[in-house]
Amino acid sequence: MLIVMDRSASQEDIQRVVAAIEAHGLTPHPIPGELRTAVGVTGNKGAVDTAAFENLPGVLEIIPVSHPYKLVSREFHPSDTVVPVGGVPVGGTRTIVIAGPCAVETLEQTVTIAKAVKERGADLLRGGAFKPRTSPYSFQGLGDKGLDILAAAREETGLPVVTEVLDTASVELVASKADCLQIGARNMQNFELLKAAGRTGKPVLLKRGMSATLEEFLLAAEYVMAEGNPNVILCERGVRTFSDFTRNTLDLAIIPAVKRISHLPILVDPSHGTGKRNKVIPMSRAAIAAGADGIAVEVHHKPEEALSDGPQALTPDMFADLMKQLRPIAEAVGRSL
Ligand code: PEP
Ligand code: MN
Repeated sequence: MLIVMDRSASQEDIQRVVAAIEAHGLTPHPIPGELRTAVGVTGNKGAVDTAAFENLPGVLEIIPVSHPYKLVSREFHPSDTVVPVGGVPVGGTRTIVIAGPCAVETLEQTVTIAKAVKERGADLLRGGAFKPRTSPYSFQGLGDKGLDILAAAREETGLPVVTEVLDTASVELVASKADCLQIGARNMQNFELLKAAGRTGKPVLLKRGMSATLEEFLLAAEYVMAEGNPNVILCERGVRTFSDFTRNTLDLAIIPAVKRISHLPILVDPSHGTGKRNKVIPMSRAAIAAGADGIAVEVHHKPEEALSDGPQALTPDMFADLMKQLRPIAEAVGRSL
């Protein structure tokens, strides 16, 4: 439910509405706008009796919100959200590029790749220290040591760091060393993890689960926001279908679908979305053309030696080509890169 205040409503009127919402055991979310304030209401299990609010001074109208997500929806927050990640704004008019290895392997590897992507125009550095691997025998990541390597690469290049957090036990640790917490596809519905990441207040890059519907995806983001953390960035990374010539099927139609109903920025990961290096650049072009707020791509200076996801990693040369190709497309859709 959304309580829209009259233009002439005073701060006192707004406070009275906030207090009335709290008195009903519900949570108020004041949303100041240019012309008027609205107050979102969450915490209700079923329909709320509007009578208690509609006659309060300064209340213009009450809009029931029929879908289950609220804080992520444009009704609650009409303008596009911009999430600052270590000083880099994600969302808004500029499109951004996150680049780096799938996994942090060594200090030398990570710093080499970080420098290469920085020189070629990346905005943020990615790299997994805690890796969710399909096989328990595959490289599981360097853990805490990997976080320190990422911090050293940030020191060296100035690039803020995005890295995955796998479980609630390591949320505080990852939040203390990274600029943005990635929650991976396999954990999109790990609700305790979503809540714990929400409580850190750090930006969260939330990847779409491999079989998640749009509604499930947005409700996962709602979990983070319901903890009082507005800094959520969505990321489409492909879903499972019968189509087997790519690792996943990149569902680019979710970009306009998200933009229509949510204010959150959405990125596209064409690396996991295709699994094949030769498809990463074309799908990146398509993502920016479709209105994505940026892309997240895997880059490795020696893909054939990578400990994970080598086949989908771009070389630094390919990454330079990607950046060159994306700029005119961003401009054509009214953005910059
Ligand atoms: C990743 O980005 O490193 C990753 C594991 O991606 P996903 O969760 O989308 O599979
Ligand atoms: Mn990967």
